[in-house]
Amino acid sequence: MKTSTTPILIIGGSSVGMSLANELAHRNINCILVEKQKGINPHPRANAVANRTMEFYRRWGIDQALIDNGISPDSPADYLYTTSMNGRLVYKISLPSHNQLMALADSGADDKRLHHSPYLKTILGQNEVDKILKNHVLKQPKIDARYGWELIGFRQVEQPKHHVVAMVKNGDTGEIQEIVADYMVACDGGQSLVRTTMGVPLKGKGGLAHFVAIHFKAPGLNRKFGHGNIYFQLKKQYGGFLMNWDGGTTYTFHHVLKDGQDWQDVDPVDLIQKIAGWNIPVEIFSTQPWTAHQLVAEYYRRGHIFLTGDAAHLFTPTGGFGMNTGVADAMDIAWKLQAMLEGWGGDGLLDSYHEERRPIGVQNTATSAGYFYALNNSFRFGEELDEDTAEGETARQTLVSELDGQVGLIDSSGLLLGYRYEGSSICVSDGTEAVPFDPQHYWPTTRPGHRLPHLWVKEGVSVLDLLGREFTLIRTDPDVNVDDFRGAAEAAGLPLKILDVSAEIFAETYEKKLVLVRPDLMVAWRGDTTPNDVTAVIDQVRGCL
Ligand SMILES: Cc1cc2nc3c(=O)[nH]c(=O)nc-3n(C[C@H](O)[C@H](O)[C@H](O)COP(=O)(O)OP(=O)(O)OC[C@H]3O[C@@H](n4cnc5c(N)ncnc54)[C@H](O)[C@@H]3O)c2cc1C
Repeated sequence: MKTSTTPILIIGGSSVGMSLANELAHRNINCILVEKQKGINPHPRANAVANRTMEFYRRWGIDQALIDNGISPDSPADYLYTTSMNGRLVYKISLPSHNQLMALADSGADDKRLHHSPYLKTILGQNEVDKILKNHVLKQPKIDARYGWELIGFRQVEQPKHHVVAMVKNGDTGEIQEIVADYMVACDGGQSLVRTTMGVPLKGKGGLAHFVAIHFKAPGLNRKFGHGNIYFQLKKQYGGFLMNWDGGTTYTFHHVLKDGQDWQDVDPVDLIQKIAGWNIPVEIFSTQPWTAHQLVAEYYRRGHIFLTGDAAHLFTPTGGFGMNTGVADAMDIAWKLQAMLEGWGGDGLLDSYHEERRPIGVQNTATSAGYFYALNNSFRFGEELDEDTAEGETARQTLVSELDGQVGLIDSSGLLLGYRYEGSSICVSDGTEAVPFDPQHYWPTTRPGHRLPHLWVKEGVSVLDLLGREFTLIRTDPDVNVDDFRGAAEAAGLPLKILDVSAEIFAETYEKKLVLVRPDLMVAWRGDTTPNDVTAVIDQVRGCL
């Protein structure tokens, strides 16, 4: 049997696994990526790539490809709530197009949300995201990508050196090979073989609702309401959401099944014609079931094995957090594994992955489930919604007032940018209080454990572009002596870059003269002078205390 060795073995080559592989390649670390499918999952699931995810993708230079392959930058991203695609428009959330928002941001408009990140929400199907990620994977000499290979078993060996031995099988030939890895990261999705084999339980609430997803083509379906991002179908018989993948030709309808209803009993063409409200020709591409959950793995780390993405947490799609949370998991574990392999990280760094990312999984799945309950409750009226009666009017007005409260579905900047690693053992607390977590509102801060706020340095250049693969000490006052900082980092082997920035642009937002940023763009420490015990700070942020 053939045996390969690698520092890092990634199981699962969908959005999260490929993001991890690309981030490791960006960090010059070799890995083997094993994915059982030979091609990309053609069924689009996610449609919202968060600004935070785009900030990570920006570093590998694929951000523009995502924008270019998304819905036309001139198309508005409206959310419409209708009784059918030929019926009444009950409610609408108007969202300007990407280009309109960018023009607003460029004009210096006062809306702070426009300036929190170089990006707003990028709308494109997950299948398109995966194509771009795969294209990038295939260009990386550091990634040994093995599509069509499936993990069938694994074990951890602790002596003489802790490592993982995995068995993989080729789907075409049946050939079995062995892969020996220093670390293994499971990105193998909700049914994760890795998680179940290790017996890691999922905590939370499973089976919030069952759906059937119908991916289809029906040109003209939006002829009455025009372009929208998502059309929610409010009548209880057909309740669900219709995602528009292009100018109005291709869609996916996610329909909430009734209790006990089998997805295979749904006639997809009939259902689409019902929500169309007329006899429109429909071409079905695929029909798949899926289940909404609010579940998080109890442990994200077992020895040298880590869970990321849907292997670690299962969401409802409301809010669009599943993939984005998984990508942020990958960014957190990538530099920590790099540190271990390069010898400057301590074992505390590996524990900090669970410590930092699991609370985010809990927080994000709970927020998403909250949005789902509210939305699902909207699917409780029937035919009266279309009627010109007092009963119909009352039902519509009730929905309007309820839907007014569901802004989280479209604006979650607090959750996507304002997440923080509270109490992390590798972030050095400065004793300040955190601003309360609010999924809808983001307040830029350099408080340790938070995302480094983006600021434009000059036209088209974000501070994020000036951060490298290493730790960065950002200094807004060149008179502050950082020699001891540099010396302590050097002594520990921790790669550190000193970045001088203009106080005029940065001092107010960054609050402190020195801000130490981790390789994953999170703040590790801040202060106005080099701390007396700078060695202790360096040791803490590299997991050696
Ligand atoms: C309707 C819908 C809408 C959504 N919308 C959004 C959204 O707008 N934004 C968002 O962020 N998220 C969204 N999500 C969630 C998102 O789709 C998932 O969170 C995301 O796909 C998780 O990515 P992953 O790579 O962790 O897992 P998956 O995408 O499930 O990929 C796992 C991969 O592992 C492979 N694999 C499994 N077992 C093995 C094995 N033994 N050996 C080798 N390979 C294996 C599989 O073939 C697969 O390719 C949505 C989900 C749904 C259903």
